[in-house]
Amino acid sequence: MKLLHFDDFRLGVLAGDTVVDVTDTVSDIPHTGPHDLISGLIEHFEDYRGALESAAKGKGVPLADVRIRPPLLRPATIDCMAVNYMEDGTRSEPAPINAFHKSPSAIIGPEDTMVLPDVPATIFEGEAELAIVIGKPASNVSAADAMDYIFGYMNFIDGSARGLLPAGNTFFQMKSRDTFAPIGPYIVTADEIDDPQKLDVKLWVNGDLKQDFNTDDMAHKIPRCIEWASSIHTLLPGDILATGTNHRGLSSFQDGDVVELETEGMGRLRFNVRDDLKRTWSRDTRLEHAEKGLDGPATPQLTGKYADR
Ligand code: MN
Repeated sequence: MKLLHFDDFRLGVLAGDTVVDVTDTVSDIPHTGPHDLISGLIEHFEDYRGALESAAKGKGVPLADVRIRPPLLRPATIDCMAVNYMEDGTRSEPAPINAFHKSPSAIIGPEDTMVLPDVPATIFEGEAELAIVIGKPASNVSAADAMDYIFGYMNFIDGSARGLLPAGNTFFQMKSRDTFAPIGPYIVTADEIDDPQKLDVKLWVNGDLKQDFNTDDMAHKIPRCIEWASSIHTLLPGDILATGTNHRGLSSFQDGDVVELETEGMGRLRFNVRDDLKRTWSRDTRLEHAEKGLDGPATPQLTGKYADR
């Protein structure tokens, strides 16, 4: 099943190229708004699955006639795995397992806009990632049991403002900014994904394919990520665990860009980028930059404020 929010944050089930409004089907779940209605539904999903499947056979509205919203609005936690790919064999062993938090205020949805802040970043990038949506409270879960805690999957962008000062551990100011976590267009329940460790992930900037990798290149596999994250804090229904990216295809995000992400089976997430400072960079990916023998991991800023930082 594919769950989404649309228009005035109605809850919908995707049925072909239509969406069926199922808000009333789940209205007895205690909630104060759409943000905790979806987390309540995730927690009690098996009690509602049959009713939702029946409701989804009703008349839908064409997707083209609705505004799709983020499928999760206010998760309690967004955990993001750091440096979690083998990068096509260019790493000899997995990096030590690590993660960081993003603020829930980073979430935006399809057709929304990622806004680049007025800060002296050396480049802004958005990492294409497979995200897990947690299905039940997860604390000290073993890797052997971890897959049972997954409710579903979705597209996730890990927006990143690189090179901020002072140099060192700048995860917080690099990653947790407003609008830096586009998600959606929907959550795909886990039963629809045969092998989450074998999914193509593709990202386009203005129609140009930039990132193109498979989740089989993940360094610490999904069960280990859940085991490790849940050994640090309790994950709750509707929480997000993003599983990392292959950095080689990363490229600059710039004002006016239209970015599209498609993880196999999860639909296409399209969103916009705005930079009021109109800064520019080369369009080279990190791989192209390296192949030219140029300095640094990513291409330098060409014009605009902070270009001569
Ligand atoms: Mn990332």
